[in-house]
Amino acid sequence: MKNRITELFEIQYPIIQAGMIWCSGWELASAVSNAGGLGIIGSGSMYPEILREQIQKCKAATSKPFGVNVPLLYPDIDKHIAIIIEEGVKIVFTSAGNPKTWTKHLQQHGIKVVHVVSSSKFAKKVEDAGCDAVVCEGFEAGGHNGREETTTFVLIPQVRAATNLPLIAAGGIGTGKGMLAAMVLGAEGVQIGTRFVASVESSGHENFKNIILNAQEGDTMLSMKKVVPVRLVKNDFQKRIQEAEDKGASKEELEQILGRARAKKGMYEGDMNEGELEIGQIASFVKEIKPAAEIVNEIWSEFLEAKKNTAAL
Ligand code: NDP
Repeated sequence: MKNRITELFEIQYPIIQAGMIWCSGWELASAVSNAGGLGIIGSGSMYPEILREQIQKCKAATSKPFGVNVPLLYPDIDKHIAIIIEEGVKIVFTSAGNPKTWTKHLQQHGIKVVHVVSSSKFAKKVEDAGCDAVVCEGFEAGGHNGREETTTFVLIPQVRAATNLPLIAAGGIGTGKGMLAAMVLGAEGVQIGTRFVASVESSGHENFKNIILNAQEGDTMLSMKKVVPVRLVKNDFQKRIQEAEDKGASKEELEQILGRARAKKGMYEGDMNEGELEIGQIASFVKEIKPAAEIVNEIWSEFLEAKKNTAAL
């Protein structure tokens, strides 16, 4: 397919694998890129030298374009940016922060910059910051989420109306039919996280992958708005947070319950009761762990089939 997203990233299909902490290292990113999508290394859980090693391994594993996701709330952000530039990465997705901070600097080094937003108001800021494209991510998405709770279906057309930037939709998309729906609403590409967590190449713990396979509708919830809103699987930890929130707990009290490194404990080390398990609503639709290339091919053929079938509507 040729459109502004495939041309911007020089990829075959406008299917982008989301950068996800603890789950998307070089193995997943290179597998998605080799299959014709855009693979992204999730740097938010990596110490700077780990990120360098992951980029180098990704370069060795694919000659195709790949990107790095940089959550701007990461503590060692300037070191990450320096490594990304030194290692010659060509595409950066920034999130969870102000797009003005790093965009020009990265672009001066020949890097395409895309920023993730959860509202049309922020999408306008992304355009003002001079980014090359924007991702709009709706309420259904896993992990870090918007405060406004706008669903993907409501968000896409509004962001489309608010900006002329190439538009990627995210949140609740895991199939070719979902991809087509997003594109009918105005997106030119999709970013998919949850479905790729349940892939062979994802670095998420086996227990975490199995939680996805067994997830039912309603098994995730947006929590911790006072700290940083994240969609989590309802487990012992999430329920404790929920009870505290229901009683009106302060930001400080919630931070105390959260403690440190809970995301690693859950998604990487496999503690399904006490870990922070960040996953999207579409988990209830994912029933099998597959190689990333198979996932890309399946989404693409389902997209083509669904597109053909729309003529009969
Ligand atoms: P915490 O503060 O609870 O813990 C930090 C975790 O990140 C630890 O597991 C640590 O590994 C790892 N880490 C990697 N690089 C660094 C670094 N330079 N300094 C400190 N810790 C580092 O954070 P979270 O687990 O909630 O989040 C992990 C990272 O992802 C953070 O950098 C956060 O800013 C970022 N992030 C989190 C999101 C979320 O939804 N939770 C969303 C977007 C970004 P170790 O245990 O081996 O020390």
